[in-house]
Amino acid sequence: NRRFLLRRRPVDDPVPEDFELVREPVPSPSAGEFIVRNIYCSMDPAMRGWMDDAPSYMPPIALDDPVRASTVGVVHASDNPDYPVGQWVMGLNAIEDYSLVTPGHFTAPVDISAVDSPTRFLTAMGAVSLTAYFGMTEVAKPQAGETLCVSGAAGAVGSVVGQIGKIHGCRVIGIAGGAEKCRRLTQDYGFDVAIDYQGKSLDQMRAAIGAAAPDGLDMVFENVGGLVMEAEILNLANHARVVLCGLISEYNASEHVGLRNLWQVIVHQATLTGFLVTDYAPRFPEGGARIMEWVADGRLRIDEDVQEGIENAYDTFMRLFSGANNGKQILKIG
Ligand code: NDP
Repeated sequence: NRRFLLRRRPVDDPVPEDFELVREPVPSPSAGEFIVRNIYCSMDPAMRGWMDDAPSYMPPIALDDPVRASTVGVVHASDNPDYPVGQWVMGLNAIEDYSLVTPGHFTAPVDISAVDSPTRFLTAMGAVSLTAYFGMTEVAKPQAGETLCVSGAAGAVGSVVGQIGKIHGCRVIGIAGGAEKCRRLTQDYGFDVAIDYQGKSLDQMRAAIGAAAPDGLDMVFENVGGLVMEAEILNLANHARVVLCGLISEYNASEHVGLRNLWQVIVHQATLTGFLVTDYAPRFPEGGARIMEWVADGRLRIDEDVQEGIENAYDTFMRLFSGANNGKQILKIG
């Protein structure tokens, strides 16, 4: 059983020495337990937060434990009649070949016949699309004709957010890093405007958003934080809704700068809402069905970036922070 362990807590950017790939015996299940052979691991920016020993919505990954990740795989051995050998499942497991699943631990069966690839359970029907869906429909509540700005726009969550904005008849501005990602925003995802944040100062970003949204932003879907969010906050329309979904620009920073222009939230009587997709867990089937409808209709495009090999776990994870990923980052290990 190859396992990708967290050996020490990263300080700033994670380095290879924070992790170790080890081989251990495959565990055997006791009563009520089963073993999942993990095939695809979801690589999520949130995993960086789980590596810190800091207050969060979930306990940190313990040192010397494998790095926690959502996975899709197959039941390999079982002492639980609800999870027979050969059943495909998805759950919160770890970057390791085999995970022991104990009662009460989240892992659910999935219907593999309903999809063209098992990776869909980490993308279209996975947490990232559900984040976009519930963040938009329940918090941003888009109205036709309104202007939405989404950061991290070419990423897994951001690309779906912007397309949901278009489905609701909004004008959509996406912020992403580099010319190629900006091309994808307008050509592949149908955004109205793409803004490349790389190499731009706060004043330049503020002006670029202002030019794209002369009447201000009715909705901001924030995935990045830092300078990008600062520039958005300086362009709010009155009664704007800001969905605070992620702050990836700060995940590797030991010093957090915070928002300097928070006053603008008061000036524009805006609503700033912290959002966690897990709040909507009971409604995941509803959200997943809606997303699959849009995918089937050709109204929603979901891109996947699948890297291979557990020995590439560190490099694949770091793609999220360099921006090398084009779509939902996945690691195939089985
Ligand atoms: P992405 O597919 O968007 O990949 C991460 C992207 O972030 C990179 O491609 C890069 O794009 C961008 N990025 C990385 N570092 C920086 C930086 N310093 N400044 C600006 N942009 C940066 O990942 P996900 O879609 O999985 O996640 C997007 C966000 O959503 C994250 O903040 C994540 O934590 C959050 N999230 C929140 C959830 C919730 O329930 N609240 C659930 C799921 C995700 P570029 O090349 O454009 O810079």
